Amino acid sequence: MVKKVAIIGAGPGGLAAAIALSNLGLDVQVYEQAQEFRPAGTGLGLTPNGLTCLEAIAPGIVAALTSSGCQVHHTVFKSMPGETIRTNASMMLAQYGQPLLTVWWWRLQQTLASRLPSNIIHLNHRCIGFEQNESSVKVKFDNEKTINADLLIGADGLHSAVRQTLFAEGQPNYVGSMCWRAVIEYDHELFNSYDLAFIKGQQQFMFLLNVGGGYTSWVTRKFMPDYSLSRSAVEAKARILHELTDWDASFRAIVEATPAEQIWEGPICDRPPLTHWSQGRVTLLGDAAHPMAPAMAQGANSTFEDVCELQACLCNATSLTEALVSYEQRRRDRTSIIQARSAVGEMRYYDIETPGQKQELSQSNNEDFQDWLYKYQPPVHSGKLTAML
Ligand SMILES: Cc1cc2nc3c(=O)[nH]c(=O)nc-3n(C[C@H](O)[C@H](O)[C@H](O)COP(=O)(O)OP(=O)(O)OC[C@H]3O[C@@H](n4cnc5c(N)ncnc54)[C@H](O)[C@@H]3O)c2cc1C
Repeated sequence: MVKKVAIIGAGPGGLAAAIALSNLGLDVQVYEQAQEFRPAGTGLGLTPNGLTCLEAIAPGIVAALTSSGCQVHHTVFKSMPGETIRTNASMMLAQYGQPLLTVWWWRLQQTLASRLPSNIIHLNHRCIGFEQNESSVKVKFDNEKTINADLLIGADGLHSAVRQTLFAEGQPNYVGSMCWRAVIEYDHELFNSYDLAFIKGQQQFMFLLNVGGGYTSWVTRKFMPDYSLSRSAVEAKARILHELTDWDASFRAIVEATPAEQIWEGPICDRPPLTHWSQGRVTLLGDAAHPMAPAMAQGANSTFEDVCELQACLCNATSLTEALVSYEQRRRDRTSIIQARSAVGEMRYYDIETPGQKQELSQSNNEDFQDWLYKYQPPVHSGKLTAML
């Protein structure tokens, strides 16, 4: 019997899952460690596979995200001194029926949260573990509260406490790519003609994303076999500007315009694919289940696929065990391929290839792979959970 669902994490995955499972008539509660919702996160590229799922979960949401974010019509590839290497018109809408959207993680979070009653989202609840038996799962928080649920979903990201309780793996794997990023109110001159820019440097690159509403997301990543963190925000900003010394002034200007305390500095990490990620009444989704390097822009997109599959498995199964086994079986192979491709793609940005990777790299760009990725369709289900209610 499944009635009460506890979701850990009010990120894109947790909130999308809350909408999907509330629509099945379940009593869903979301627990988030943040003390308040505040502007956070990076600019995300949402691709047709993710948007198709989002629209299935919350009809009308793609239109809302299109008006608060940006539909990408053109991307431009530039060199460090600012020369145009090539420009591409986005063919996503024509080829796959959904566009490429660029949105701010925070706006995506707020858009999803606005589809839920506010009293089911509990801020200031950091999950520190759980215990389960055959009939329920008891979730513990650092504010000394505990709650009981029939199903626990860990949607708590890369450093998932739910995954740690399940598998005790420890720290994630640093992939060799160091990242600095921010989203600020800034109209970059490039956005008169393009919505997305990629600038390639020496084992370093930068993305500029128009995320709508006059906001720009900048991300720069550098190949670093070992990484170290700056001692202060001011030092981090000085460090980035130093790394961008030979870059065109317009690329440096956006970093200069960013208040130091708004810059996020950190390593890009993933984890090895899991062969299973459910136990008893507990499962994972999104970055908690299959964290990946951002090279293919699939972290959030694959998370929305997870949500659709979990929703359908809960509808179609006759027991919770059957639903969770079927959910991870349906997700395992696809997400492990995307994780592997993302790791290879991250190194490809720096043109560091081992001979074994070369073939994979040439395949990673091919149309078949893109079709496989972007043509994903969520499974059909009855929209009712009669068997388990
Ligand atoms: C530089 C960069 C660029 C990216 N670009 C893209 C892109 O273009 N397209 C794309 O699809 N993806 C992209 N991603 C990946 C994307 O951000 C993630 O895959 C996505 O946010 C995962 O969603 P999630 O809900 O699983 O986890 P998260 O977004 O990490 O959300 C997890 C939530 O859980 C909360 N939480 C964590 N621990 C606890 C706890 N113990 N108790 C309670 N709450 C907790 C967190 O505060 C957070 O709100 C990018 C990532 C990076 C770093």
